Amino acid sequence: MAGACVAGAFRGPCGLAVAADGRIGRVAAHAAGHGRAIDLRPSRCIAIPAFANAHVHLDLSSIPAESLPRSGFADWIEGLVAARNASGSAAGFERAVIRGAEELLRHGCAAIGDIDSTGAAWAALRRTPLEGVVFREWLGATVGPALAAANAAALAERSGAEGDRLRWGISPHAPYSTSAEVYATAFASARQHGVLVTSHVAESREEEAYLRERAGPLAELFRRWNVERRPGGDDALSPLSRLASLGPPRGFLVVHGNLLPAADLDACARNGWPLVHCPRSREWFGHPSPPLAEAARRGVLLALGTDSRASNPSLDPWQELATWRRHDRELADRALIAAATRGGRAALQLPPAELRDGEWATFQLVEPVDGADLGADEWPAVAVRGGLRTVALFIRGRVAWQAAHLPSLGGADLPPPG
Ligand SMILES: [Zn+2]
Repeated sequence: MAGACVAGAFRGPCGLAVAADGRIGRVAAHAAGHGRAIDLRPSRCIAIPAFANAHVHLDLSSIPAESLPRSGFADWIEGLVAARNASGSAAGFERAVIRGAEELLRHGCAAIGDIDSTGAAWAALRRTPLEGVVFREWLGATVGPALAAANAAALAERSGAEGDRLRWGISPHAPYSTSAEVYATAFASARQHGVLVTSHVAESREEEAYLRERAGPLAELFRRWNVERRPGGDDALSPLSRLASLGPPRGFLVVHGNLLPAADLDACARNGWPLVHCPRSREWFGHPSPPLAEAARRGVLLALGTDSRASNPSLDPWQELATWRRHDRELADRALIAAATRGGRAALQLPPAELRDGEWATFQLVEPVDGADLGADEWPAVAVRGGLRTVALFIRGRVAWQAAHLPSLGGADLPPPG
């Protein structure tokens, strides 16, 4: 079979054809495409871009948020580390990655920026159709020989091994847990090898208190653990300004940014550093809301993340959009959708997938939860109210997931992702 005629599976007029090479062969002239959504009537489905989740920790998918303390950020970190150490076999972490990946695929997510703190994610993700970047997490006071060796081995093994579907990146954890020396080495390594780098920045008031005064719950936690942390830079500076002096490359993904001041938003825009918002994780902790509309006005690229199951009841981008909408009355519905789709792909430096002739056929088929008819123009408003659900996901022309009630979309006949 030469590709798949997606709407043909519904015995209706064909709006979208997937060519045998995994790219979009044809968006039919009669389809209400607008380059963004394609009407596949007479089914109730429309085709829209797949989600890109720019920040997730798939290896934590077996540690449910409900099992961890909610008495504060530092208590949560302590509980998470204990749970991870207790559950930690390599095979267990691989199973967690697969479980999280399956949850993302069911909800229309094709691309990830995954933080790998255990070394399990790369091998596991190679067995899934997901695209994106696996960021190896760096943490602590010094770049010891073990970290340097792991980095060199990762570079040798991973660069180019999966073509451009999965790439390797580096994630120094956060300014309160990771020294200036480690950050500077991570940024230099990212520049040298041309890989992406990301970090949690300006997430919580606890982080601010620790960085400014070495006080608060995080200071108490590090004392209890008897570990040394040496955050670098000027204590009067904001968390992002401290990192800025250590040389982050263009494309540095700033995750959370709940407490970013205006000057830092300008630095993000000027330096090409995307801001990744994790709505439900922020809500779960009760952290302040990030200045997203202001960021967009200043030219910052916005992307969406789920963070991990350890601070989120599920890994469902539809729920993230609905939560974002509930807390943000300023940004337009389409701006939220853009962050969850092409914003994430751009932040992860993946090729665009905008439902245009010749682009990768990476998209999802969605239908209204209430069974109503849906025009191709009105779906963003319905989507951000939680009114849509994914019924099929294509990644690079291949069916990555489809709901049981759909007729077979013929993915088995298509080539595997390159
Ligand atoms: Zn995170």
